[in-house]
Amino acid sequence: MAALLTTSVGSFPKPDYLLKARSAFARGEISREQLAAEERRATEACIRLQERLGIDLLVHGEMERGDMTTYFAEQLEGFAISGLVRSYGNRYYRKPIVVGPIGRRRPMAVEAFTFAQSLTSRPVKGMLTGPYTMADWSFNDHYPNRRALVLRLAEVIHEEAVDLERAGARYIQIDEPAVSTRPEEIELAIEALGIVTRGLSAHTITHICYGHFETIYPRMLDLPVDQLDLEAANNDFAILELFRRHRPHKEIALGVVDVHSHRVEPVEEIKKGILAALEVLEPDQLYVDPDCGLKTRTWEEAEQKLANMVEAVRQVKAERGLE
Ligand SMILES: [Zn+2]
Repeated sequence: MAALLTTSVGSFPKPDYLLKARSAFARGEISREQLAAEERRATEACIRLQERLGIDLLVHGEMERGDMTTYFAEQLEGFAISGLVRSYGNRYYRKPIVVGPIGRRRPMAVEAFTFAQSLTSRPVKGMLTGPYTMADWSFNDHYPNRRALVLRLAEVIHEEAVDLERAGARYIQIDEPAVSTRPEEIELAIEALGIVTRGLSAHTITHICYGHFETIYPRMLDLPVDQLDLEAANNDFAILELFRRHRPHKEIALGVVDVHSHRVEPVEEIKKGILAALEVLEPDQLYVDPDCGLKTRTWEEAEQKLANMVEAVRQVKAERGLE
């Protein structure tokens, strides 16, 4: 069994040429096809960077996405998009509004996956936003209650997951960052994710962040996926204490570098986190990645954090005789 496989959560920083192209497209100065060409260029840069660093399980970098819920809501039937809404701190985004029955017009994440996978022989994750998070980050003006909305979204996202699998995705990640923010709804999140992953043979992953895992642990281990991808560095690895009390039986991808900080963690510091994790997890059960998507970092910071992460894993494997 492979030990300590390295990966990333999902998003990468958008290079300057892509930011410029997105603004030019918004102003109507370039065509959608011209924007798409710049997105493909950035996707290729992201794949080549990960290959060069020696990362095992790749991501396409989400160059075509602005916000992880709005990107899907804009493509689905039944959604309208609001004006700017304030989220955390001083960040603003356009919030989706459910105004009618939700349905899928066409595959939404397949093209980006297929292009990225065509560039490399290493596996690339198919990336989706989960039904619970899609619902929690939208206004509901149509369905009678949250449960009805979440379960409808689960059916639609399941269709997308099936299409990703048919397109060759061996790993499918369904991001559910909102799951840790409302512990009282963990049962609904589990039920919905079970609909999304129903019958899939691909390796399934869910990413959860914002850190308040103690409120949903150990019940969150019952989320019906093969792997939980969790933030840890930003919370000083407090989650390992939960693992110590109740050992997880599934794969854990653990965030070992903080994506909210400019500081590039030294190799020694990252190694300490990995070694602490190995006290409570088996080497073939533990994947190593950053806490969350890297889109808020600069390209250089992202590269340096990943390079130190890979080097830390290399040293731990050498010292422990792991392969
Ligand atoms: Zn996250």
